[in-house]
Amino acid sequence: MSQTVQQKIEQLRKELQQHNENYYLLDEPSITDFEFDSLLKELQDLEAQYPEFYDDNSPTIRVGGGITKIFPTVQHQFRMYSLDNSYDYNDLEDWEKRIIKTISEPVEFVAELKYDGASISILYENGKLTQAVTRGDGFQGDEITSNVRTISDIPITLKGDFPERFFMRGEIYLTRKNFDKINKLREEEGLDPFMNPRNTASGSLKMQDSGEVRKRRLSSVLYQFISQEVPAETHWELLEKSKEWGFRTSDHIKLCKNLDEIKEFINFWDVERHHLPFEIDGIVLKVNSLQQQRQLGYTAKSPRWAMAYKFKAEKVETELQSVSYQVGRTGAITPVANLKPVLLAGTVVKRASLHNEDIIKKLDLHEHDFVFVEKGGEIIPKIIAVNPEKRDAGSKEVQYIKNCPECGTELVKVEDQAIHFCPNYLHCPPQVVGRMIHYVSRKALNIDNLGSETIEQLYREKLVENPADFYALTKDQLLPLERMAEKSAQNIISGIEKSKEISFEKVLYGIGIKHVGETVAKKLVKNFNTIDDLKNATLEELCQVEDIGMKIAVSIVDFFNNPENILMIERLRSFGVQLEKGENTNEVVSNVLEGKTFLFTGKLSLFTREAAEEMVEKHGGKNISAVSKNLNFLVVGEKAGSKLKKAQDIGTIEILDEQQFLDLIEKQ
Ligand code: AMP
Ligand code: ZN
Repeated sequence: MSQTVQQKIEQLRKELQQHNENYYLLDEPSITDFEFDSLLKELQDLEAQYPEFYDDNSPTIRVGGGITKIFPTVQHQFRMYSLDNSYDYNDLEDWEKRIIKTISEPVEFVAELKYDGASISILYENGKLTQAVTRGDGFQGDEITSNVRTISDIPITLKGDFPERFFMRGEIYLTRKNFDKINKLREEEGLDPFMNPRNTASGSLKMQDSGEVRKRRLSSVLYQFISQEVPAETHWELLEKSKEWGFRTSDHIKLCKNLDEIKEFINFWDVERHHLPFEIDGIVLKVNSLQQQRQLGYTAKSPRWAMAYKFKAEKVETELQSVSYQVGRTGAITPVANLKPVLLAGTVVKRASLHNEDIIKKLDLHEHDFVFVEKGGEIIPKIIAVNPEKRDAGSKEVQYIKNCPECGTELVKVEDQAIHFCPNYLHCPPQVVGRMIHYVSRKALNIDNLGSETIEQLYREKLVENPADFYALTKDQLLPLERMAEKSAQNIISGIEKSKEISFEKVLYGIGIKHVGETVAKKLVKNFNTIDDLKNATLEELCQVEDIGMKIAVSIVDFFNNPENILMIERLRSFGVQLEKGENTNEVVSNVLEGKTFLFTGKLSLFTREAAEEMVEKHGGKNISAVSKNLNFLVVGEKAGSKLKKAQDIGTIEILDEQQFLDLIEKQ
C-alpha cells in the first residue's frame, strides 16, 4: 500500500516539475492553471497525509507559507564581486587595451543584459537546491533559501549531467507587468504603491512569509556558474550547460569577436530595452575564455575580465502645465502632473503620476515649474526633480486640493497613509461608477458584455446606481443608449442573468467592500457561510480570521452598518444572486477537531502552512490568526518565536509539534 502511495507522490512531483518547466523555461504551458493547481493540491494532500515521504525539494515547497523571522548570515565561499562601470565607448576601449596587455591571443567576449534586480547565489548539491544567499557585502549575505524556493523559474531539482556541488549566480527581478499588478492590488487595499521593480524585488526576497514572496511572482535569470572544478572551457559553454540542467538563462546574449560587435549590441539594446518586459540598466561584457579570465584575475573590488556598460537614464526637461486629481473606485485621490508634451524614450509624454501630497512637497513643486522627467521601471514616467533656475520669482507652490474635484466633499487623510480620500462613498460619481465597473469585472461577476462606457451611460441616464440595479434592467431601457444594437442589448441582459450563478466569494469581492480584495474575500467565505453570518460578525470575530486585521474588520463592519448597503444586499438576494457558500467548497472529512482553534507558527517541515490549515478545516476545526485565550492549539515548527512565548504565558494553550498535530487527526 505505502509503496503505491510513494510512487504516486513521486509521479506527481515529476509531472508537476515538467509542467513547471514547460511553462517557465519553454514558454509552452502544457496544462491550464486550474489543472496545475489541482495536481498540486493532490500532491499537497498526499504529502500531508504521508509525512514520511517528505522531500525538501517537492514542488509543493514552492507554495511557501513558512515564516522566517531572522535570516541567518552566511559566508560566501566564493566572494561576490561587483562590476566595474563604463559609461561610453572610450571607457570600453581602455578596458580592451588593458586586456590585450595581459593576453596575447585573440579575445572573445560574451555580451549580456544587465538585469536590474537583486543578485543571488544559489548552492546546488547532488542536483538539489540546498541554499540561497543574498549578495550582502560580497563576503557574506543573508540566507533566504525558503523564499527563493518559491520562485517558480528557479529549479529545485536539476536534470541531466550536472556537477555534484556548485553555485549558480544570477538576478532575481520583477517584470514590469507583475510590478504593476502588485501596485494595483496595493491600491485596492489602500496601501501606498511601491516605487520601482528593483527595490520591490529585493524587498520581496526579505519577507518573512514565503507564501507572500510567492505571490509577488518574481523571476530569475542565472548568469554565472561557479565551482572548484569547472566542466567547460568558456563562459558561453557554461551558460548552455546551465540551461540544460534546468536554469533560466538569458535569451539575449551574443558572442562578440571585437569592440565593433560589442558596440552594435549596445546600440541595439539602448533602444530595444524599452520594449523588454523587464528593466535593465546596462550591458555586461565578459571575457569568454575561462583560462583568459583566470589570467586576468581580479582587482580589490571587481573582476578584470568583466565590465558593465551603463545606459544613461533617459531624462528630459519639460514644463508643468497643471496638476489634476483623479478619484478612484475606493475614493483614493491621485494627483497627476499635466506636462507640455515631450519625447521620451520613443514615446510622447504628456502626464506623470505624482502619487500623493508628500511627493509633491518633497519635490517642492511650484506652478509652471520646469521639471525633469524620467522613465523608470513603471510604464508611467515620473518627475524626479524640478529645475529651480527656471522658476519664476513669484510662482506659487502647488497646493493640494482640499475638496473632491468630482463631488466637492472635503477630503480626508487616514493617519499614517500618504493618500487622501473622498469620504462620499455613496454619491461621489467616480466611486459609484467605479464600484459598478468593478462588480462586472472578470474576477468578480464577470459580466463581460457590460463595458465601462455602457455603465457610465446607464448611470448618467439614472438607470443604475449600484450593482443591484443591473438586475432590474430591461432590454427596452438599453436600446435607446448610444451605439446599442438589439443583439448587444440581448447579450447584456443574458450576461446579467448568468451572473446569478457566480459563487459567493466572487460576489463578496464584487460588491467592493474597502480592503476586501480577492484573497480576503476567499478567506471570509471560508469562515462565514452566508452574507448574514458575515453581517452579524463582531469586530472580534472578524479579527480572528487568518490574515484579517483591524483595518479590514472595521471596514467590513462599517459596510454593513450602512443602510444603503443593506438595501442593496437585500435586493441582490431577491434577484437570486449567490450570497451563500456553495456546497462543495469545503468538503469535510471528519469532525474530530470540531470546536477547536489552531494556529501554526515557525518553520514547518512536514507540511506547508496552507496544507496544514486545510487539514484543520477538513476535520472540523478553525484556524485563527493570533495567539489569544481563544486559541486551543499552537502547532510549532522550527525556530518558533514570539507566538510560542505568548502562548506559554497564557498557559491554557496546548502546544503541539507537527507530528503530535497529525496524531490528533489520526486518533479518530
Ligand atoms: P553593480 O551593482 O552596479 O556593481 O553591478 C553589479 C551587479 O550587476 C551584480 O552584482 C549583479 O547583481 C548585476 N548583474 C545584472 N546582470 C548581470 C549579468 N548579466 N552578469 C553579471 N552581473 C549582472
Ligand atoms: Zn468625491
